[in-house]
Amino acid sequence: MFPERYRSHHDGERCLDTLLGRSRGKQLLGLLTAGGWGAVEAKLRESPPGEGSPRGIYIHVPHCDRICSFCNLNRSERKGADLDAYTAYLVGEIEMYGRQPYVRGQPFDAVYFGGGTPTVLSAEQFSLVLKALRDNIPLRDDCEISVESTLHNLSLEKAAVLERGGVNRFSIGIQTFSDRGRETLGRTGDGTKALDQLRAFRAAFGGILCLDIIYSYPGEKPEEVSFDAECCAVLPADSVSFYSLMIYPGSKLGKAIESGAVTFNRNIESDRERHHIFYRELRRRGFDLLELSKLARPGRDRYRYIRVRYDNGDIIPIGAGAGGNIAGIPVYSMAPGKRFVSSPNPRYEKYHKILGYLQFGLYDPERITGELDEGAKKAVKERIRYYHDQGLLEETAPGAPLVLSADGVFWGNNIAVDILSAAIRAEGPAAAKHQREKL
Ligand code: SF4
Repeated sequence: MFPERYRSHHDGERCLDTLLGRSRGKQLLGLLTAGGWGAVEAKLRESPPGEGSPRGIYIHVPHCDRICSFCNLNRSERKGADLDAYTAYLVGEIEMYGRQPYVRGQPFDAVYFGGGTPTVLSAEQFSLVLKALRDNIPLRDDCEISVESTLHNLSLEKAAVLERGGVNRFSIGIQTFSDRGRETLGRTGDGTKALDQLRAFRAAFGGILCLDIIYSYPGEKPEEVSFDAECCAVLPADSVSFYSLMIYPGSKLGKAIESGAVTFNRNIESDRERHHIFYRELRRRGFDLLELSKLARPGRDRYRYIRVRYDNGDIIPIGAGAGGNIAGIPVYSMAPGKRFVSSPNPRYEKYHKILGYLQFGLYDPERITGELDEGAKKAVKERIRYYHDQGLLEETAPGAPLVLSADGVFWGNNIAVDILSAAIRAEGPAAAKHQREKL
């Protein structure tokens, strides 16, 4: 169907950048040459956007105890890092934003601690950051406060302290419960220990438990995929992110595959088989599709933070390596005192919102095409019909929006990119020029 599979939402965003002529180089140049922080400061002195406009906070902790063999994220080994100083920096940033009318004037829907591994911070350090948040920034009563973690630095005691501090969602990187797989992926501890720890965690923690699983790693057998799905279901996790392994050339695993030290014979069919085993097992056990790479028990994980992002809401970026969006201005916080600011791009935002609908499997043509001109609307509807004819989109009831079939989920990022590309082509250079002139 497609010569190459896009495996994650990052591929969708990267392709959208390319379709809109926003290469990495151009973006970097834009960041370096844009008007700077002054424009953001002016916005921060203004009133907030008002009710109905979603808002989130992203807090980045760029350290990990140990670097996993497959990882290329923005992180470094914790060894030697001064985590007290980093905590003080995060608290200072929160206080600075908390003084701004734009931030103070309207409560936030979601806070996301990402990394790296935010739980390299001790319970005491984390508590200081959570207290600073509560004291300085208005959060809704039901604000989602989410923390990424690995198991080995999340003791029950630390989790309890964080829960008391307001954390109500943990996203825990497991990757696999297979001992052999864990070794291949460079994970700490064996699968039985991981499962035992999660059982204890599940019993003690009242919030949302989300697990990250990787499939299609070197040597993975179909029964290992089933076992991972079964472990997630019986705990039970509230949601599971499941990704086909991505090989990054500079990663330890990438180098091992390149040198021949690790054999990796993945192809589209083996990838598809493993995807479907995992997907179908969790669907059979009552999980629904939440996002292209995420299944959730009904009514549990809302994953508000990512919805705010796709809705192009404010994301206040805090910490070294945090990216965000303040009043439509992209902001990247690089290091203490170093922030880069880019130009607003309403055209990108419009398509990014559509990408969000498609990520969440919402194939309602009226909703998807609401902000498009007639030519683009027609092109999108044609592509939706095409994927329906190919069996990748299915009807659940007469007149109801189409939903992705299992193959549709597998190819979901490719379908999203194809639909965006059809819309952008149909919109044509005149619309692009008009948008540029508005900037
Ligand atoms: S813990 Fe997460 S961020 Fe850290 S190296 Fe492993 S995969 Fe990367």
